[in-house]
Amino acid sequence: VALALLFSVLSLAQKMTAKQPENIKKRVAELLAKMTLEEKIGQMNQYNGFWEVTGPAPKDGNAATKYEHLKKGWVGSMLTVRGVDQVRAVQKIAVEETRLGIPLIIGFDVIHGYKTLSPIPLAEAASWDLDAIKKSAQVAAAEASASGINWTFGPNVDITRDARWGRIMEGAGEDPYLGSLIAKARVTGFQGDTAADLSKPNTIAACAKHFAAYGFVESGKEYNSVEMGNNTLFNMVLPPFKAAKDAGVRTFMNAFNLLNGIPATGNEMLQRDILKGSWAFDGFVITDWASIREMVVHGYAENGTDAAEKAVKAGADMDMESYLYVAELANLVRSGKVSEALIDDAVSRILTVKFELGLFDDPYRYCDKKREQAVIGSAENHAAVLDMARKSIVLLKNENQLLPLKKNNQKIALIGALAADKTSPLGSWRIAADDNTAVSVLEGMQKYVGSNLIYEKGPDYFLGKPAFTEEVQINYSDKTGMDRALEVAAKADVVVLVMGEHGFMSGEARTRTEIGLPGFQQEFLEAVYRVNKNVVLVLNNGRPLALPWAAEHIPSIVEAWHLGTQAGNAVAEVLFGDYNPSGKLPVSFPRNVGQCPIYYNHHNTGRPTNVDNNVFWSHFIDVDKTPQWPFGFGLSYTTFSYQNLKLDKSTYQRNDRIEVSVDVTNTGASDGIEVVQLYLRDVTASVVRPVKELKGFERVSLKKGETKTIRFKLGKEELGFFDNEGFFQVESGVFQVFVGGSSQTVLEARFELK
Ligand code: BGC
Repeated sequence: VALALLFSVLSLAQKMTAKQPENIKKRVAELLAKMTLEEKIGQMNQYNGFWEVTGPAPKDGNAATKYEHLKKGWVGSMLTVRGVDQVRAVQKIAVEETRLGIPLIIGFDVIHGYKTLSPIPLAEAASWDLDAIKKSAQVAAAEASASGINWTFGPNVDITRDARWGRIMEGAGEDPYLGSLIAKARVTGFQGDTAADLSKPNTIAACAKHFAAYGFVESGKEYNSVEMGNNTLFNMVLPPFKAAKDAGVRTFMNAFNLLNGIPATGNEMLQRDILKGSWAFDGFVITDWASIREMVVHGYAENGTDAAEKAVKAGADMDMESYLYVAELANLVRSGKVSEALIDDAVSRILTVKFELGLFDDPYRYCDKKREQAVIGSAENHAAVLDMARKSIVLLKNENQLLPLKKNNQKIALIGALAADKTSPLGSWRIAADDNTAVSVLEGMQKYVGSNLIYEKGPDYFLGKPAFTEEVQINYSDKTGMDRALEVAAKADVVVLVMGEHGFMSGEARTRTEIGLPGFQQEFLEAVYRVNKNVVLVLNNGRPLALPWAAEHIPSIVEAWHLGTQAGNAVAEVLFGDYNPSGKLPVSFPRNVGQCPIYYNHHNTGRPTNVDNNVFWSHFIDVDKTPQWPFGFGLSYTTFSYQNLKLDKSTYQRNDRIEVSVDVTNTGASDGIEVVQLYLRDVTASVVRPVKELKGFERVSLKKGETKTIRFKLGKEELGFFDNEGFFQVESGVFQVFVGGSSQTVLEARFELK
């Protein structure tokens, strides 16, 4: 017994030391020394899941080639392989049939959950609840890892200001401060808090994407070019990536777009100088899908050979689906054009992450059928995504106290094709989740009211489910059902109208030039309002919509995004007042599309207001210059007031911490949650600073009548900015502090920094 105990202690000790960085370094070096050039390059090659691996081997075509490469050890990673059986089958080939038996790293787009879906990432950002967002990433990691996956292509940390861009749904909105904190929450949710956590079977490696500036594609047009100065690059775009790096993210993905004429994939300044240079990132960079090949089309590389050379030199370590590293790199090394040291560096980075994940200790550690069955769709996971969904809802308008709805004695008409849809709420990027698996708004509301609820679909706006590459089809002419819906609406006490975009109308390659209600929903909305003024509009959308008519006429508007598997339950809880809405917009909502891009942290022009009746002030002549709903905005069923904004001093020295306090009171009739927001402005600076920048927030629970004093501490990090050379500067001078419940703040103070 003593001997057995000794052995188990020894083997435990061995396992523990095996994961220490020094040890991993050594193991990587030893392995690298045994590898042929082709085997090394194989580690830099990633293929999409290409055949039913558990079935017979593919005999011809692309799949057969990939299969041959896998058997030769020329594949280091695969993406979108589904389920434990499939993962086990490919892993078995890599581990048992190749010369060195190096395990694959299996990647997947786990963007807002795996099978049990959370709200789309933009919606989650509206919660401003970092713990809930982290928990949501933990659930996603637990389910994906139980299905054999060890790496997600998330989080997307692209800052975006343009509602036209379909991928706005995938990020955290327009603000780099909020975006950085959310990046950290997601990275630590996926990977765990410490480096050692990564080897646990329920964590997966994360990937900060898309490096960089993809969220600024011109006109929001997908895959478009980006022309950007350093001020925006360093202060708006890069901070969330840096936050992800600081949180320990193990991989980065580069991007499709050009940045100032140079493809992100071939961009040495981004990948070598900034990421692997000044940030000392020691994980690896994956390209975006076939983005090495796209450099030829862009006009940056002459052909595939040239593209592979440029990408590897620029710091792209792994090729996703361009097939170019595997085809070109060996010759490039042999001809002396690419040094083998570059290959060794890339491979070492990739192997390091595989060791950290524990794949060498047990390549099948993520292949546990029992765990797959137990974890996916567990009650705990459903509870977590429901919690996230309620917190993501934003109350945009509530006049006449239409909301919350009464549970009895009120005849409610629920109208709209989206109200009964069980697929649309899943949103874009839900590869592993099946159709019809979301709780619809209809189902959610039925739990509250039986016969007092009448559902009428109205016209069907959407024809079938569009495939990823097809255009979303909207039936503009079929108004079947409109008249019946109007009849039902006319007889009800309240009409709940669910409208907006189908889940497939945002996401990759889903740019829109009109951002109102698609199809003839606007016409339908106005028709309903004509027969019944008591309308609650529940919005489903993956981007800010421009709804000037609704904002003016409809008494109650609820932003319910695409809220995932538990969507309908969360919406019903908010509508009936069991959850008092607490979400705040992470992005500005424009009044019309011509205002795009619109964002709160802009600079002042020299003519900001119509002082002295200056008719040449900076504005549009046909629309108010403010957004419809500003960044940070969101109502509650109660109200809050702000008083006593105080600073502990009026003048500070460079190293001081600035203490700010403010009293917030719940002045309404119910308990509620307010997100108290603090913004700063450096009034005069060597590089002009925005009119306002978020630098602190707290989600505060307040009982009715209760007052709490909220305190913020500001230091160099909050006061400084990046100059045009990329150096962080804190400059003396006057600063303004603003506090309130949105970016349209209510209190202001000033201080001087010596
Ligand atoms: C997207 C990436 C994604 C990749 C793999 C690309 O089209 O831009 O964000 O991770 O596909 O699915």
